[in-house]
Amino acid sequence: MQTAEVVIIGGGIVGSSIAWHLTHAGCKSVLVIERESSQGKGSTGKSMGGVRAQFSTPVNIQMSLYSIPFYARFEEVVGHPADYRPQGYLFLATKDSHLAYLRDNFERQKKLGLTTARLLSADEIRAMLPQLRSDDVLGGSFCSTDGFVDPYSVMNGFMASALEHGATLWKKTEVTAIARDQQGTFRVETTREPVSTHTVVNAAGAWAAQIAKFVGIDLPVEPLRRMLVPSEPFSDFPHSSPMVIDMSTGFHFRPEGRGFLLAWNDPEETAGYKTDFEPSFIEKILMHAADRVPAFENLPINPKRAWAGLYEMTPDHHCILGPVAAVPGFFLANGFSGHGVMHSPSTGKILTDLILQGKTNVVDDVSVLAFERFARGELLHETAVL
Ligand SMILES: Cc1cc2nc3c(=O)[nH]c(=O)nc-3n(C[C@H](O)[C@H](O)[C@H](O)COP(=O)(O)OP(=O)(O)OC[C@H]3O[C@@H](n4cnc5c(N)ncnc54)[C@H](O)[C@@H]3O)c2cc1C
Repeated sequence: MQTAEVVIIGGGIVGSSIAWHLTHAGCKSVLVIERESSQGKGSTGKSMGGVRAQFSTPVNIQMSLYSIPFYARFEEVVGHPADYRPQGYLFLATKDSHLAYLRDNFERQKKLGLTTARLLSADEIRAMLPQLRSDDVLGGSFCSTDGFVDPYSVMNGFMASALEHGATLWKKTEVTAIARDQQGTFRVETTREPVSTHTVVNAAGAWAAQIAKFVGIDLPVEPLRRMLVPSEPFSDFPHSSPMVIDMSTGFHFRPEGRGFLLAWNDPEETAGYKTDFEPSFIEKILMHAADRVPAFENLPINPKRAWAGLYEMTPDHHCILGPVAAVPGFFLANGFSGHGVMHSPSTGKILTDLILQGKTNVVDDVSVLAFERFARGELLHETAVL
């Protein structure tokens, strides 16, 4: 039977980052098991690629404070491009409550060491992007080191470098069961052959709850469809634009290629493994788009290029990281609730620290992300979910 020091289930951006961080910390016997014939067919290949440090909870801010500088040096450190573009995230506040929220977050971000975020007046926003409809804008916040990466390149870069440093990737191989004996050895059953290991990492994205069930864990991670609409080439809005978030509707967009990529989280969406694109979504999102950017009234869209993917939602919209007390040797890297691309570098580092040393200093208190928080009723609260 095949053996490995660490078995990672799922070869998306999260599993790839964990494999990279483990191999670069000296753990060479790492096996990544991916059920698809190529990587990126889960949520990673469907992502918008946004990265930001403008969060409200300390743990999310600190995960970004590791991840974004990592992205800035990705090519130098990993040896492959990440296509990090620090064009910023601009939040537009249209209510006093939005302003208070942004101010509060800004103070917390500053205290934790983020130096590139600032609050903006409505006039500053108008000067920055006169093409926006701003009559109802009261102010906002902007962080110049927020921006975008190419999730495919990041995932492939992490994995290529991990493979060069001793990791193994099995593609087209599904994990079908996991057994754990009295001595703490796992037998991971796959469609290829069984694997024996002392450490299993669940990095199965929106399918993580199914993996957790194999070891008797009820993991609160639910799939939730998200749809993105790319435009055809369009030049009546600047391509140097940041990600713009209209807090009045949740509509957000960023430049992509010669056009723009539009996103809006439909509040009527319900949980489930739905990955078909719903054509009626285009009319809804274009209404929000033209409302904030009058020029988008003429934005050319080819519905055939729009797509849908799955967020992996937890009850408090924070990821679940670390060991499971009831199943020693079983680790979770799940439930990113729409932030798995931006937080994949810090997740790789945190999981590696926890597996190899039992502690981490990437965040002040990693226990707030523990699986056991749900049983303890200690949920986190993050309101800025995109
Ligand atoms: C429309 C959309 C927009 C998004 N925008 C952003 C964004 O702007 N910024 C951001 O940070 N995040 C964004 N996200 C979220 C982000 O894409 C995810 O959080 C991230 O990709 C999760 O990575 P992952 O590796 O955990 O999961 P995945 O990429 O889903 O990888 C999990 C892998 O596990 C494999 N797997 C599952 N079950 C098994 C099994 N039994 N055996 C073997 N393999 C298995 C799957 O095949 C899959 O490849 C977005 C998501 C969507 C859908």
